[in-house]
Amino acid sequence: MRLDVVTIFPEYLEPLNVSLVGKARARGDLDVRVHDLRAWTHDRHHTVDDTPYGGGPGMVMKPEPWGEALDEVLADAGDDEQPVLVVPTPSGRPFTQEMAVELSGKPWLVFTPARYEGIDRRVIDEYGERLDVREVSIGDYVLAGGEAPVLVMVEAIARLLPGVLGNAESHRDDSFAPGAMAGLLEGPVYTKPPEWRGRGIPEVLLSGHHGRIARWRRDQALARTADHRPDLIAGCDPSALDKHDRAA
Ligand code: SAM
Repeated sequence: MRLDVVTIFPEYLEPLNVSLVGKARARGDLDVRVHDLRAWTHDRHHTVDDTPYGGGPGMVMKPEPWGEALDEVLADAGDDEQPVLVVPTPSGRPFTQEMAVELSGKPWLVFTPARYEGIDRRVIDEYGERLDVREVSIGDYVLAGGEAPVLVMVEAIARLLPGVLGNAESHRDDSFAPGAMAGLLEGPVYTKPPEWRGRGIPEVLLSGHHGRIARWRRDQALARTADHRPDLIAGCDPSALDKHDRAA
């Protein structure tokens, strides 16, 4: 998978060199290219922003550097390989595990993290005519820039790629995973020692009885979801629940 990020803070993307994503890059499973937007400015001050039409506080990112940058990044695009353009914005559609799964199946993603009040709308409209453009929000709050949202999205997407997690099964039971977990939250997890500060392990986990353990995990997931995210229970596909779930 190829990932391009165009930003005025390339150094903000340094974490893409560490941990799972860094290792995937080193192995060649991920081709990450970070570009400095200011390389496509032509004035002495490398200006990327200007005052908003219609007035109001804050500045808006100018369309010209974005247009030149994206044209150059997209120059590699062939008829059969067009990237998805991911535009982080608090006014976008919510980034979800489902979206991470979908984007992990794409060969090429281009991210446009903004600063100030965002990017001149004409840039999104221009590329929206020829590319799959996704305006995406990572949550109902406003950050100073889109770089942290890019780190969040890249990590969520990259860990789903084949070979990135040590154990390919380990995201099967994650919170929000469709299928077996029916999109519920994951319940509590435990490891050794068997007793810590007087606290033990739920008996069932020591039983070696796979059926009972699976049932206990599912009940815990249901209880946690009902407590923290009742909206997920309400939106759950009924066919993904069994009769014991319904009783719980
Ligand atoms: N005025 C904009 C609004 O209210 O929608 C907020 C602009 S914000 C200060 C600057 C940039 O940070 C955004 O253009 C976007 O790239 C990024 N950003 C901030 N919060 C975000 C969020 N929740 N999800 C995704 N991107 C976000």
